Amino acid sequence: QVVNYASFTLLPSPVPSALFEQAYAVQQDFNLLVDAISQNKEFLERTLASTIKVDDFTAQLFRIHTQVLEEGLAQSVFLGINRSDYMFDCGVDGTPALKQIEINTIAASFGGLTSRTVAVHGQVLKVLGKSKEASRLLPNNPSKGLALGIAKAWELYGSQSAVVMFLVEEVQRNIFDQRCVENELWNRNIRVIRKRFRDVFEKGSLDDAKRLYMDGQEVAVVYYREGYVPKNYDQQNWEARLLLERSRAVKCPDIATQLAGTKKVQQELSRPGTLESLLPGRAEAVARIRATFAGLYSLDMGEEGDRIAAMAIADPDRFVLKPQREGGGNNLYGEELRQVLEKIRDSPERTSYILMDKIKPQPTRNYLLRAHSPLQVSECISELGIFGVYVRQGKEMVMNKAAGHLLRTKAVEHADGGVAAGVAVLDTPYVV
Ligand code: ADP
Ligand code: MG
Repeated sequence: QVVNYASFTLLPSPVPSALFEQAYAVQQDFNLLVDAISQNKEFLERTLASTIKVDDFTAQLFRIHTQVLEEGLAQSVFLGINRSDYMFDCGVDGTPALKQIEINTIAASFGGLTSRTVAVHGQVLKVLGKSKEASRLLPNNPSKGLALGIAKAWELYGSQSAVVMFLVEEVQRNIFDQRCVENELWNRNIRVIRKRFRDVFEKGSLDDAKRLYMDGQEVAVVYYREGYVPKNYDQQNWEARLLLERSRAVKCPDIATQLAGTKKVQQELSRPGTLESLLPGRAEAVARIRATFAGLYSLDMGEEGDRIAAMAIADPDRFVLKPQREGGGNNLYGEELRQVLEKIRDSPERTSYILMDKIKPQPTRNYLLRAHSPLQVSECISELGIFGVYVRQGKEMVMNKAAGHLLRTKAVEHADGGVAAGVAVLDTPYVV
């Protein structure tokens, strides 16, 4: 009743090799981009100005961001763990193209569990008499890659006795995913503790040098697997978050990097010239990044926003309407998109959303294995995520890597939602 297996597909799903390679090839660029945005106070301020007027959650994050900058950052080591998600858009001539859905800069999950799915799907293929196909599944171990990033940050923090703290949910639904990463750290003789915001509020403290202590233990790295949606916070949890951000511990991510992952930032990145200004002198990286962008549109007040709103209302099936939320299940499609946008088209409330072209992948067939649901063939679409890990010390990037991948697959009738939302299931790419 309490513990359940994570849902998975019976068979691996086909992924075009060119797009798979393209997604890996652009990951270091995305790492640099996220890191550059997080250091660009003016860009974040300008980009999120309209959003924070109407979205309390983003506004609260932004207030903490402003406060820690005013106080002066206590740590010059930065650790980023992100996951850039894509779908394969089927063009008019049938050629699939890699299009980014979003980049997750906080609590990007399933790197642990997906490190096990290759073995599962390899076994299934062997049972089916497909040993040759089984041997073609690519090795994948994001949990090790993520742990290497955390270990590097821990080392740079420079205290043998300090621990890594996983900041985890009140109700821990995805603990085994996190344990995979945790065990990699214990294997490297790095101690890990698991705490909730509530524990930080009750037992966390800073010393004169802003070193973070939990129960008397010094914390070198805080790895957030929580704190990305409004329901994670009450007043005490916000205070705990502020304490962590002010501290000398390396934060994964720091609050600026969390803000860099907002949907509003994603939309602004697609404006001509923005990538160039954020990554000066890196024309090739800019071109690789831009090639993955779908159409993204601002609904800010003014003529441009009016025009975009009218366009979406006239043809809702072409678009997805996205609020500044994470975790799946928040986007609006089709008729619902039209109704909501019609209601708020003349109100500043519309600026809490962005509009995006809807990606339309070619469906494939698979079985989705979920506890207590009947086994049946479904028409499915997949979303490929690439994990990125980087560590910066002052101005120097000391690590910048792609750390593995995640394939999630869902039935076509579900427009939205990931694995945690109970819609998508874990899969393994079969590169074709
Ligand atoms: P969240 O932060 O909630 O994960 P996403 O932007 O990843 O938000 O959207 C959630 C899900 O909605 C995605 O996993 C994908 O299945 C679907 N989705 C999002 N954007 C698009 C799009 N442009 N076209 C088609 N499906 C989309
Ligand atoms: Mg998502």
